[in-house]
Amino acid sequence: MMTDDKTNLLGLTRPMFDRFFAALGEKSYRTSQVMKWIYHHGVIDFAAMTNLSNALRAKLAAIAEIRLPELVTAQPSADGTIKWLLRLADGNCIETVFIPETDRGTLCVSSQVGCVLNCTFCSTATQGYSRDLTVAEITGQILFAARTLGIPKNRGHRVVTNIVLMGMGEPLLNFDNVTAAIEVMLDDFAFGISRRRVTLSTAGLVPAIDRLRETVPVSLAVSLHAPNDALRDRLVPLNRKYPIDKLLSACRRYVAENPHKRITMEYVMLKDINDLDSHAQQLAQVLKEVPSKINLIPFNPFPGAEYQCSSNTRIRRFQDRLMQLGCPTMIRKTRGEDVAAACGQLVGRVQDRTRRQQRWKNLVHDGK
Ligand code: SAH
Repeated sequence: MMTDDKTNLLGLTRPMFDRFFAALGEKSYRTSQVMKWIYHHGVIDFAAMTNLSNALRAKLAAIAEIRLPELVTAQPSADGTIKWLLRLADGNCIETVFIPETDRGTLCVSSQVGCVLNCTFCSTATQGYSRDLTVAEITGQILFAARTLGIPKNRGHRVVTNIVLMGMGEPLLNFDNVTAAIEVMLDDFAFGISRRRVTLSTAGLVPAIDRLRETVPVSLAVSLHAPNDALRDRLVPLNRKYPIDKLLSACRRYVAENPHKRITMEYVMLKDINDLDSHAQQLAQVLKEVPSKINLIPFNPFPGAEYQCSSNTRIRRFQDRLMQLGCPTMIRKTRGEDVAAACGQLVGRVQDRTRRQQRWKNLVHDGK
């Protein structure tokens, strides 16, 4: 439960900071000062913000807070990936994963506590749905990671260089909070990450893909996973509402104004389900007119899963077929598997599952 009603500054975008300080009768440069203390220096104690007057520091401490999610456990994987289980103010827990690579550091961020979409190969689905994350709970995951991994002095080489909204939840079902958090990711006073280094992954909420294009067109990944509606209906039930042709039209609109941009098509490799040569052929056919690249994701099993991962030979053959048919195709390296930090293995701890059914009904009936 919230202990008080202080404003968590991690929930504010730059214009919101401006309004916040204006309401306090403060000059607008306070926005840049405080945002930089928080995001460039990782300072979360107002007393340490030495270029603010004592009076302002005291005022801020009385009405505001910089509250990060709390660490429950940190699980480092043998390959350098780290999975954090983080507790939110109401007791719910979410997972955030850091994936280091030679030339970058990617943070995989959650957008909801649980998920309503019920994709049949995803373990988050088995956890039910509790609620959307607030803006502060999304930006808080990034600040938590940056402070934990070390914020470099003088804005030197940063540890978190890329952000993927691929953790728990469907980011486009929490549109307003996710896009506000993206503004903070891109803001130079905050994380200052470029638009193409932020990737939002969606199961395919068509109207929200269009809204994202008009709001903050970050890199887009789409969980396609099947080349025809009959199969996709089974794997990603949201397909019954937004079938493949509608989804791919939205993808084409998304990249229409930028000839260099491509959509990443995610395709989980499920043994004997979607991994046959005929599927590769169909996939190449449906993607013919869509500027895209395919990312094959080896299925990551979890307790109770009804699928198996395709063999390595199968996955490579599937890739070869697609490449021969002219589709750029990569195989996603599985990271953090030993600590269940891989795609679709994030579960957190969800307290309240009761609203999930209602959310699903609203979604299917009204498109909300
Ligand atoms: N809801 C969003 C983002 C979360 S999942 C979406 O659907 O895109 C991030 C990616 O992991 C998605 O492509 C998802 O389909 C994939 N995924 C889910 N479960 C998986 C599993 N068990 N193995 C491999 N990938 C999985």
